[in-house]
Order: sequence, then C-alpha cells, then structure tokens
Amino acid sequence: MRPRPPGETPRIRPVDLEKAEEGVRLFLEGLGIDLDDSNVRETPRRVALAWAEEFLDGYERSAREVLGDFYEERKPEADEMVVVTSIDFQSMCPHHLLPYRGVAHVAYLPAGKIVGFSRLARLVDVHSHRLILQETLAREIAESIREELGARGAAVILEAEQSCMTIRGERRASSRAITEAFTGEFAERADLRERFVRRIGSR
Ligand code: ZN
Repeated sequence: MRPRPPGETPRIRPVDLEKAEEGVRLFLEGLGIDLDDSNVRETPRRVALAWAEEFLDGYERSAREVLGDFYEERKPEADEMVVVTSIDFQSMCPHHLLPYRGVAHVAYLPAGKIVGFSRLARLVDVHSHRLILQETLAREIAESIREELGARGAAVILEAEQSCMTIRGERRASSRAITEAFTGEFAERADLRERFVRRIGSR
C-alpha cells in the first residue's frame, strides 16, 4: 500500500456519531442560532448522519475491495485503451468542508486484468467520499488502477465546480476546476494522452 498522500486527510478513529452530533450543536450555537427552533431541532443528528454515511463513507472501503477480484483476465489488443467518460462524482474540500462536484474521465491501458465499467465508477466514489483535495483525488484514482489491475498506465481528468470558489471567496459562479493525473505509459507518451483527450472531447 502506498503511504497516504498529503492531500488526503486520514481518518484515525472510528466514527462517533454522538460526538459529531454534539459538534454540530456547538457549531450552530457558536453561530448564535436558536437550537430550540423546530427547523433545526433535529439538524445536528441529520448532519452527523449525512457526513458519516454519505459524504465520508469512502473511508469504509478500499480500492482493493472495489477492483480486487472483479476483473476478467484476457490478453489486450496492442495499446487497447479502456475509457469511461463523465462519471458523476462529489467530494468534500478539507479546507472549508464545502462540496465540489463534477465529472471524472478515466482511462487505462490493461495489461491483462479488465474490470466492468461500473467498477471504475465505484472506485471514484471510494476515493471521492473522503476529505481530499481535487488534485490528489485525480492522482489517487489513477494510482489505484495501476496498482490493483497492474495496468500499463492510467489517466484521470476531473472537471468540477468547487463551492469554495463559486459560493464563497471570489464567488466566480461559472468557474470550473480541472485536475489531471497520468501514470505509467500515459505519463511517458503524449500520443496516449492525446487519444484520451480526444475521446473526452467527442463525448
Ligand atoms: Zn475549500
């Protein structure tokens, strides 16, 4: 296993829902909100559950669980490229706890192990449902494909709306952040990167 990259914040202890709930209560109290108001009475519980069970549930799974035994072995054609475009994803920025969401384009050059397309979408979820920076997310998805499938190379491009940029700070509502990661032969060969980018362009 690779060491965890600096752009991904690790989870170091199991989820404690009550503690998280108490934290949200304190947070709202600190902002001067009336916790007796009926709209927010259940909010601390709701927020804690949503974070534990949806936004950060990627910590519960690993790339190995998602790709591990689900491949088919066959000899690929020369430079055969598997490409899946526009996989919807969402994640959380570790700096502001605000969401970013968009699409992931993923490609790899199989060396013998080939997985179903839906497995790649699940892999994106395993990595994105954590506190992780978008730059790191692209790299983690690409590295996992290389490692778990022994692929000759993997490529990932993420296009996302970063709430940190669109609803706070600069408030550039239309801006989109694009990050990419190329591993193995994708890092070495411009022709492969161009093929991948053309596939994305023709979607
Ligand atoms: Zn942020």
